[in-house]
Amino acid sequence: MKDRAILHSDANAFYASVETVLNPSLKGRAVAVCGAAENRHGIVLAKSELAKRAGVKTGMANWQAKRLCPELVIIPPHHDVYAKFSRRMHEIYARYTDRVEPYGLDECWLDVSDHPKPARVIAEELRAAAKGEIGITVSVGISFNKVFAKLGSDMKKPDAVTEILRDGFKDTVWKLPCSDLLYCGRSTTEKLKTLGIFTIGELAAHPLEKIVSVLGKNGETLWKYANGLDDSPVAKIGEGEQAKSVGHGITCVADLENMEEAGVVLLALTQDIGQKLRALGLQARGVQVTVRDNDLEFHSWQQLLAVPTQCAGDLAKAGTELLKMRYGWEKPIRALTLSAIHLEDAGEPCQLSLFGGGEGKLRKVEGAVDKIRQKFGEDSIKPAALLGDNKLPEPTPRPASPPSSTT
Ligand SMILES: [Mg+2]
Repeated sequence: MKDRAILHSDANAFYASVETVLNPSLKGRAVAVCGAAENRHGIVLAKSELAKRAGVKTGMANWQAKRLCPELVIIPPHHDVYAKFSRRMHEIYARYTDRVEPYGLDECWLDVSDHPKPARVIAEELRAAAKGEIGITVSVGISFNKVFAKLGSDMKKPDAVTEILRDGFKDTVWKLPCSDLLYCGRSTTEKLKTLGIFTIGELAAHPLEKIVSVLGKNGETLWKYANGLDDSPVAKIGEGEQAKSVGHGITCVADLENMEEAGVVLLALTQDIGQKLRALGLQARGVQVTVRDNDLEFHSWQQLLAVPTQCAGDLAKAGTELLKMRYGWEKPIRALTLSAIHLEDAGEPCQLSLFGGGEGKLRKVEGAVDKIRQKFGEDSIKPAALLGDNKLPEPTPRPASPPSSTT
């Protein structure tokens, strides 16, 4: 059987690059997009190549970044503009295939197996189109599966194309550290080290049963990845990831210190999710809460719901209970994401329990929102999204996928 031709396109320093398109005087300067840019306690959300070279890292406090790189230009994020640029990128990808699967705002897989042009030519055309039409650079990986295509896009940047062929992939891939593999996070990497496994090649050569005994099902997936056996398809535009979950998260500009603060943020996050679920005609049978603590370590938990819902209030309540039960607060929380998972078609729209209780409840929510704004800045919550829940929104046609809020 003929191998698939999968591309993975990754925009280089996406936020900072978009900012440079908007304001060309930033070109050639070290730029960081930061939450609460006016405040020295804000944190770095993204950085340009030059800032990166000076040691600036995502998640670092503004003042630390500034100390490492005194000439750093700090600017606030413009999420709407990033989403618009992301959609323009997707329009370019859609010229080649209807199999375009976003991974975050600035990365996409494309399956171009059926296209008459060779993958290498398409990759070069994408690179040229991103630069010529939009003004940003991308790195493109080409391979016979999604995992290696993504590895390829990481190998040479910016503005480059890397191909990993089945013939010889072992020479390219097996010397890389396991942490380069998709979904191999820090705690998995640590567990692999206890087995004496450091490189992807060592993972591939290790007996599968031993990996599974330590890492379970996830271990089997990673072992397959390492051996070039990933056969997951690239989702079609509008299907796939979006149908699996609808999530929303923020990186807090000041750490969350306790359950009360986290609860308020979760409540705010679910307003957007509830609205999206109703627009898509979906309801959730579960919630997932993902935490990034102030050591930048991820934790994630899921919980099934007793009754499926598309109500913001129900989702917030479930998310809050889950977090309360599972998170020990050894460290403050830097970023928090809530996702509605196990989605299914909704029948009748649910009662809007959160806002059904009249004036008093609405005021309480507004008060909570004000508190968040004080702590996380004006942009952290949009009043329209929140108060829009008073009435059922018109179902609006959605762009292919709003990747920032869809996991
Ligand atoms: Mg990128």
